[in-house]
Formats: sequence, structure tokens, C-alpha cells
Amino acid sequence: MSQDTNPYHIAIKQLEMAAEKIGLDPNITELLKHPKRVLIVSVPVKMDDGKVKVFTGYRVQHNPWRGAYKGGIRYHPKVDLDEVKALAMWMTWKAAVMDIPYGGAKGGVVCNPKEMSQGELERMTRRYTTMILDEIGPYKDVPAPDVYTNPQVMAWIMDTYSTIKGYAVPEIVTGKPVSIGGSLGRLGATGRGVAICAREACSKLGMSIKDARVAVQGYGNVGYHAAVIAAEMGARLIAASDSKGGVYNPSGIDPVKLREHKQQTGSVLGYPGAEEITNEELLTLDCDILMPCALESVLTEKNAAEVKAKIVSEGANGPTTPQADKIIYEKGILLIPDILANAGGVTVSYFEWVQNLHREQWTEEEVNQKLERKMVKAFNDVYQLAKKENVDMRTAAMILAVQRVAEAFKGLFP
Ligand code: GLU
Repeated sequence: MSQDTNPYHIAIKQLEMAAEKIGLDPNITELLKHPKRVLIVSVPVKMDDGKVKVFTGYRVQHNPWRGAYKGGIRYHPKVDLDEVKALAMWMTWKAAVMDIPYGGAKGGVVCNPKEMSQGELERMTRRYTTMILDEIGPYKDVPAPDVYTNPQVMAWIMDTYSTIKGYAVPEIVTGKPVSIGGSLGRLGATGRGVAICAREACSKLGMSIKDARVAVQGYGNVGYHAAVIAAEMGARLIAASDSKGGVYNPSGIDPVKLREHKQQTGSVLGYPGAEEITNEELLTLDCDILMPCALESVLTEKNAAEVKAKIVSEGANGPTTPQADKIIYEKGILLIPDILANAGGVTVSYFEWVQNLHREQWTEEEVNQKLERKMVKAFNDVYQLAKKENVDMRTAAMILAVQRVAEAFKGLFP
């Protein structure tokens, strides 16, 4: 039987596991399985050739008990409703693990931004924003970047929203360009968190991140920053991949030069001095730290037994299936789950929102220090709980998150 890799089914399974462990009221578990609101819009866009194309867009709001909805917007041809529902639920847990005052949401538009012009992307973004406008707001639902969206897309969202409101509302989105209220340090924040978690995991295992061999699957914004920051900590990048394939050099790859190569050629492939490998080979490579930073369900029961890394730090959302989790845990690999490892992004999004509401700008150093403190605290909270309960880090992170969300509900209901 082929395994179920539907992300929403996986998210529900993870919730059920945590709920069972803490003996959560089944009525609350039932509530948490369902997003509070799902908005589906048909977004008409005049393409450069004069024809109108209609794109499907989603905004899913999972749970508001701990604060305003928060979560990114993804542009990808494979976006579908169940994926966005899962991503929204994971945002609820992520904000709770980091103890920041948000609930979870996520958006997506089914499109291939690689085949669209800047003009087409701008028109699609502005129209999508207009169509979800009533459901978003600085105290209601605050979008941010995700796969294949970036600060420019956030600028268009902010501008569209502000134009309709009649005044500048920078706090409507996070991950904006710094020139219009974006936070210093936001662009690298998700990758920084992934690297910090890997470093903390190293120290728990009695090894140093210095000279640790790192393999990064997905060399986009998250993967690139994770690699650079891990390298600053002394680690050695030995492999990286993108949707076209990967490169491997056991004596080390310069993460900055690799990105320059990718920017010039469109892929990491062909990087001088490196051997070509597939994405599949990268995941099971002999390395110390594996960072899956691309899409969901890449570590499955088919390849989990072959993973050779000692640490897995999840830059992507949902890269590991529950079956793979079990195998990885039994192998003694320390896996830091997405809702902790990649939570640096939403944490600095929160800092950005706070700065915007106060019309302040913090220095990059201040942002990075605050992020460092939050990540280390959350990592240790989860690690200690995992030891205490004798469970893997994902279950521990889920227990912590679900408990916090349920606790908030007690204060609100009846
Ligand atoms: N899309 C990112 C995530 O999955 C960031 C969300 C945010 O900053 O609100 O965590």
C-alpha cells in the first residue's frame, strides 16, 4: 500500500498523537482539526499576451485563540486546499511553540511564478489581495512570504491594501522590503533559526557545529541563509540542491559563491568542482546535519532508513511523514521539527509587526539577538519535554503547542 502523503492528513495525525499523549478533551481536538475559515477565490489576471487567465487562490485561517492569524502566501503550481490547510495548522503550532501571540493561517495561489513576468505577478498579487482584503488586517490576519513569494510581493500587498484604506498600513504584511517598514534580519531569519537549532542539537549530542558536514535540500531563501549562517558558525556545506538537482563536494562548497552561480545560471547544477547528485541522493548522503528546506513529504518510509545524518533540521514545512519520523527517531537521529526549526521566520515577522505598530526600527543586531534568545529557549523547552516524556522532538513540540493553544481556549470559553 502506498503511504498517505497528503499534508492535511499528516497534520491531523500529528495533532491526534499529541492530543492523546496529553489527554486533551476530544471536543477541543475535534475543533482543532478543522480550520476556522477557508476562503477560495478565482483571480482573473490579464496576461502579457492580452488573454485573461484565472488563477485559484486560497487563504485558510486555522485558529485565532492565541492572537491574530499569521502565515505566509505560497505561489506554486502544486498548491492545493489540503496543503494550505495543513500549512495553516502548522502555523498555529509554530506560533505557540515560539510563544508569540498569533494564530495560524496560510495562503496560496496555484501558479508557476517561474513562467510569469514581473507585470503578470504584480497584477495577480494585487488582484488576489483585493479578493481576500476583507479577511486580512493588521489585527486580523497578517500575511508573509512563503515558497516563491518574496519582499517584492509583500510590497505589492501592502500597497494594494494601503491604497484601498487611504493611508499606509505597513503592519498588514511582514517580510516587506526594509525601505517600506520591513525588519532588518527578516530575510535571513528562517535560515538563521534552522542553523541555530542545528547548533543547539550538536551541543546536545556532544559534538560541535565546527566542521560539521551540512547538506541542504532546497537552495532557496531558507536553504541559502541556513547554509551561510551554519558556515559562519564553522560548519562545512558539502551538498545542496534545487528543483533541478544537486551538487556535492565533500571538501566543501562556498555557500555564497554557490548562490551567485545559481543566480547566474538558474540552478546549483554545474557548480565548479562539485559532483552532480540527485535530490534523492542528497537526502541520504553521508553528512552530519541534513537540512530539508524545500517542500513537503521528502523524507518518507522509503528513504528514512537510509538517512545518515546525525541531525535533521527542518527548514521546510512538513518535509517528514509520520512513518519516516518513527524510523528516524528509532535510528537515534535528532530531528528538529519544522514548527520549531523554521520558526525563526515568523518570529522575526512578529518583531517586524511590533516595530511597525510602534513606528520603530530596530538594528539588525538587536533583531538577531532577540531571535537567538527566543530560538534557544524554544529549543530547550522542546528538548527537555522530549526527554521527560521520552518522545521525539516533533511530539514534544506538538505537546507544548497544543497545550498552549488549549490553555488559551480555557480562558476564552465558554
Ligand atoms: N511562511 C513562513 C512560515 O512558514 C513565514 C510565516 C510568517 O512569517 O508569517 O513560517
